[in-house]
Amino acid sequence: MRKNWAAPRPVYDETISSWLCRCAYNSECAPLVIADLNEISITMPKSETAETSHLPDVNFDFNTENALALKLVEYYNMPKRVLSGVFGSHGEPVLAPYSCTAYCPECMENDVKNYGLPAWRKNWCYVHAPICRFHRSLLLTTSDFQYTKAFSAYADQIPLEPDANKSNMLETAIRNRLAYRVQIWLSKLYTIIYYNSSTNSHCEIINCIEIILKRILRMPSPRFPGGLADNLFSPRYSRGLADYYTLNQLEDLGWVMSSPRLRMGALLVLGYLVGLFSKAEVEWLIFFFREKSAFYNLTHDKLVKFLFPANNHLEAYLTLLPFLKIAKSKAAIEFLTPFLKKVITNCNDKQGLPRKWHCIKKPVLFDSTLAWLVERGILSR
Ligand SMILES: [Zn+2]
Repeated sequence: MRKNWAAPRPVYDETISSWLCRCAYNSECAPLVIADLNEISITMPKSETAETSHLPDVNFDFNTENALALKLVEYYNMPKRVLSGVFGSHGEPVLAPYSCTAYCPECMENDVKNYGLPAWRKNWCYVHAPICRFHRSLLLTTSDFQYTKAFSAYADQIPLEPDANKSNMLETAIRNRLAYRVQIWLSKLYTIIYYNSSTNSHCEIINCIEIILKRILRMPSPRFPGGLADNLFSPRYSRGLADYYTLNQLEDLGWVMSSPRLRMGALLVLGYLVGLFSKAEVEWLIFFFREKSAFYNLTHDKLVKFLFPANNHLEAYLTLLPFLKIAKSKAAIEFLTPFLKKVITNCNDKQGLPRKWHCIKKPVLFDSTLAWLVERGILSR
């Protein structure tokens, strides 16, 4: 028999782990007790041999199959799909479980006033969403990444990563507004793809954007420097990863492990690169980058040169290769052309290069060059 519903209602956009926590702390919600919460934990990669074994496994913030959720489903005799519908992600890229530590203190303050306990949001766990959609502020981070993180974050008196200089409110507001525009644009793209699987060109565009964001957010290692975000904003606290990681792995990891500040910086660079800002906004942004970093005048040309360096045919081919593999539709090629054609224009040795970026062909490679590229982790075997 179906029992009467006596669990707290999920807050809009709440994660399943946060909701289960609030259920366990609610004395009227019979099937769950606080001791059960120990079952919520991060699962590490299943296989060391898997291609993506350097990436963390299932995130408890989105795991609608966990034991506690199933207990509730059984007790209340609910269809399982209700949970995945409410708490699942809709195709948005999710941060690594131990990097899902970003939160908005104002949203939490409201939660405690309205529901008694703070709630964690799905949106805070998305790579492309470092700004609170309600308060337009850069998210803060807590050091706790376990299921207790909402409580820890609420109790944090001194945030680990305070938002810039409080005296410069106008600069912060403009910066957040510009980054938020890019965030909303990406959210819309992910939504279009999720609800309409036939839009191939949107898929291609988002795949290419993810390559660019990964490059900007690359983790540093003793062999390779960090991405542009590390140059533009305060570098990471850690000194980087071990030297056996390849370039691709450093990019994959930087993408799911970056702080809100670095991800916000990456959105600003992306918006500038793909032309989402007006002329006046670009001027402001160049000024902002100059104030924040060693980049004196980050023109569009300079930006492309920094992100996609190419001195000769081989380097131009390797730089464009990931995009060549993905962009097949006319819309995706048109979207990428304004900045990718500059890879060829910027190239010092133009001999044999086509005028259009998507017409570039694989140059003849000598075995020694190939071995060098494989050894550096630039090409896979
Ligand atoms: Zn907020």
